[in-house]
Amino acid sequence: MSADHATVAEEEYLQTLFWLHEARLAMTGANVARAMQLSAPTVHEMIGRLERDGYITRADDKAISFTDSGRRHAEEIVRRHRLIERFLTDVLGIPWDEVHEEAERLEHAMSPVLEERMLAAIGDAKTCPHGHPIRPGERIEGVPLADVEPGAKVTILRFENEAEDLLHHLRAVGLEPGMRGTLASRDGDEVVVDGDDDGRRVSLTPSVAETVSVLADPSPPVRTALPEQLVLAKDRYGR
Ligand SMILES: [Zn+2]
Ligand SMILES: [Zn+2]
Repeated sequence: MSADHATVAEEEYLQTLFWLHEARLAMTGANVARAMQLSAPTVHEMIGRLERDGYITRADDKAISFTDSGRRHAEEIVRRHRLIERFLTDVLGIPWDEVHEEAERLEHAMSPVLEERMLAAIGDAKTCPHGHPIRPGERIEGVPLADVEPGAKVTILRFENEAEDLLHHLRAVGLEPGMRGTLASRDGDEVVVDGDDDGRRVSLTPSVAETVSVLADPSPPVRTALPEQLVLAKDRYGR
């Protein structure tokens, strides 16, 4: 039996599952735990609830699939989240590293009428300010910046992880979606990108560079696994 309304917590999980699906990563409890930086038991319990409420099914090998209802709910909440973020940055002028948590709060309470008005207000913007497509299905495939070889040309496509600490960090170092540049150097401590336009030089830890999707020429192969954890500068990152 499918519940009419997903709870806020269920919607958060549906969003993460949808992102895994979009990124062509395995929809499993382990990947949800990594993506949300939560413990396995916490995730296990919520996955069970999503199954009971009719949003997902689980195969014997633990692979998760959406039911029709689950997929519809997930697409709706993902679309709203990204639309709200774009509205907050473009229309209200809020910096892009401060809109994710606001969108998390607003997305659960939005009426179709408000959604329509917001869509009209953002003009022809196609993505959230972090590069995720507002219309699910329009994602451009990228590779992690951490995998790109020195000398390659890169265009920053997307920040895959929208945790605000990480977004504040990315903004502070001067990286933004749409930026073009050249991979200047890469070693165990840092990944350095030189911007094409303004001589900007951006340095990231390899761990942070794993969360940044780019188009690269030449391009390394597409990845199919999620990094275990995120390391910001020298401090461990968690949420
Ligand atoms: Zn977000
Ligand atoms: Zn976003």
